[in-house]
Amino acid sequence: MIGLLQASGLAQSSCRACGRAFRGKDQGLICELCLEGLRPYHPMDYSQKIDYVSSYRVFGLYEGVLKEVLHSIKFYNSKTLALRLGRALRDHLWEYVDQVQPDVVTFPALNLRRFWSRGFNHVEHILKGAGLPSVKLFRRVDLSPPFALLSKEERQRAVTGHRLREDLLDLVENKRVLVVDDLLTTGSTLKRLAYLLLSVGASEVHAYIVARG
Ligand SMILES: [Zn+2]
Repeated sequence: MIGLLQASGLAQSSCRACGRAFRGKDQGLICELCLEGLRPYHPMDYSQKIDYVSSYRVFGLYEGVLKEVLHSIKFYNSKTLALRLGRALRDHLWEYVDQVQPDVVTFPALNLRRFWSRGFNHVEHILKGAGLPSVKLFRRVDLSPPFALLSKEERQRAVTGHRLREDLLDLVENKRVLVVDDLLTTGSTLKRLAYLLLSVGASEVHAYIVARG
């Protein structure tokens, strides 16, 4: 019976990064050895300019353990692993926070379909794990109703997706905002969010990203 359970993978799980077998005393996806080995990547290349973003900092490259961790958080909806990743980033993130001195910290909103399938915003939980208070400044407008009925202007806004929550605009005006996201590739999401923030009066927008793709 035990042999059967092991063969089917039910008796124990193995770390998705290193393959080592472990019994899930924690989230059961990535072993503590791998998580403890997560370190800021040096030297990070900051030659990529992101329009409207005054400065940004990246923790690591989207590869190896970090890639597995981010993938596992999303694929297995693991809030616990998101919190644990936040602890791994904490010192690096806070060093940047001390430097930038943001008035408010925020993160992109998930589109509704992803939010309902996952039930939580992983970046929000990474920030919780890092002990950095954040505010949900953005909401998503995913207009699925008949696209053809929308005006040209509405269609463009629908594609854009992100909106600032009108009730929180006071938190942005004349303020330094830090946007935290999980993955940097083209920088188009950050650029769009920074533009939105500046358009309602933010004085500066900075960004912190977990991994560079
Ligand atoms: Zn491992």
